[in-house]
Amino acid sequence: MHLIPTQDEVVAVLRETGALRDGHFLYPSGLHSNEYLQVPLAMRYYQYQRMLSVGLSRLLRANSEIRALIPELSIVAPANAGLPVAYGVCEALRAKQVYWAENDREGDSLRFRQYLEQHPGEQVVLVDDILRTGKKLSELKKLLETNGAFVIGLAVIIYQPTPDTHDFGSLPFFHLAQLDASYYADSAHCELCTEGIPLEKVWV
Ligand SMILES: [Zn+2]
Repeated sequence: MHLIPTQDEVVAVLRETGALRDGHFLYPSGLHSNEYLQVPLAMRYYQYQRMLSVGLSRLLRANSEIRALIPELSIVAPANAGLPVAYGVCEALRAKQVYWAENDREGDSLRFRQYLEQHPGEQVVLVDDILRTGKKLSELKKLLETNGAFVIGLAVIIYQPTPDTHDFGSLPFFHLAQLDASYYADSAHCELCTEGIPLEKVWV
């Protein structure tokens, strides 16, 4: 295994652990897709959690601006699926702290635990298992910046762009692998629907 796993090595881990599935899936956004990915299924296994998060930390460390700030860096996740990545990255980098945002119910605004406050000028790297639409990551970025923090990077295990993926502009972006699934706006535009392949509803 390389120090930074290759795209093929990452995909092999995802397939072996059942984290990456082929089929015909309906996302909550209404999009249809031929591919579904649940990185937490791969993160069940400690050796893969380590391999993936250490690999990602090496990409971050290679950035000189981020490397210079490591001792003071906060690693922040938008939801619990990002936690194994966040702790793995923090441990490998020896960054300062890890925390995460939550919402009580899907659709509620993200918030931090009571008494968890950003200190003025805090430097933050956002991490998550996957960047798909980036909706939560962009909400988290806004929340942190409103509270006076500086977001200096975004790091995910998998980048799976969709037609709706949020544009993070010039924010340095790091990912171990990119998966380009086919997305269809609705059943009328979906090739898999046309072929009559059974549709499976997914909730994240
Ligand atoms: Zn379809």
